[in-house]
Amino acid sequence: MSTPKFAYFKGNIVPIEDAKVSVMTHALHYGTGAFGGMRAYWNEAEHQLYIFRAVDHFTRLLQSASLLRMNLPFTPQSMTQILLELLRAEGFETNAYIRPLVYKSDEKVGVRLHDIGDDFTMFAMPFGNYITMEGAHVGISAWRRIDDNAIPARGKITGAYANSALIKSDAVLSGYDEALVLNEDGHISEASGANVFIIRNGVVYTPPVSANVLEGITRRSLMTLMQEELGLEVVERNIDRTEIYLADEAFFCGTAVQVAGITRVDHRLVGDGKLGAVTQKLSNVFMDAVSGKIEKYREWLTPVYITEAVK
Ligand code: PMP
Repeated sequence: MSTPKFAYFKGNIVPIEDAKVSVMTHALHYGTGAFGGMRAYWNEAEHQLYIFRAVDHFTRLLQSASLLRMNLPFTPQSMTQILLELLRAEGFETNAYIRPLVYKSDEKVGVRLHDIGDDFTMFAMPFGNYITMEGAHVGISAWRRIDDNAIPARGKITGAYANSALIKSDAVLSGYDEALVLNEDGHISEASGANVFIIRNGVVYTPPVSANVLEGITRRSLMTLMQEELGLEVVERNIDRTEIYLADEAFFCGTAVQVAGITRVDHRLVGDGKLGAVTQKLSNVFMDAVSGKIEKYREWLTPVYITEAVK
């Protein structure tokens, strides 16, 4: 990933060097922010950059903001307009990663959510070509996923990512690629930064949104693609730890990882220990959908550049 040239900051698109906050910023101390992670995909044949599910991402961001009692003068549509301006300024002709952030911006000491001013910032950077994590070895984390009654996992709240960071570092430093984390009920929730699916006997399962997971936009998109394009039955229900040991296939999904096969869990093979056939097929359909190659799913995409075709 290379550095962005610009950021949207305090109401304007400015050079990235000028997008700086004070050490007294509330969100820096108390984790009182919420962020998004989005992608734009470059379609070389059309010479066009497509933002994937922009309005859905900004809707989730504003929902996270509302959990933090933020008052922001934006709508998902106005945030999309700002993103279009930002991406046009950057002029990317490659895949890009976009990071919007809403945060308690007042320079005030005092832990609370009310009577603190809020702001919105965003930057984007080239993300190169996509890499599939072909066969992740995953450990079940000794940590537990934060509970909705502690910090809601359905909001992408900055402070909650200390939980993800504990999970991720312990997994990587123990020799795993990633971890799956159990919720307080002892069921599988998700990974440090991705949702999870398993396939057993031809049926796809994923934890429900009430299992302390982020309401992933890739998760939702894949559920549609699996049902409509691959004719699979997808069931949202609690998943026990040992079900993934016995699964035929398992995979992560998220904006960053896209579709990433899990081939080992706790030193046990998932299925035959190779990337699953359904996972591979799904990954291909997903990549076609996000880059504008499937007409039906073009409604998920917002073109960035003004061309004859979109005028
Ligand atoms: N769970 C967590 C904890 C995440 O951080 C992410 C990445 N945003 C996801 C799931 C996947 O969500 P999405 O598909 O919306 O990127």
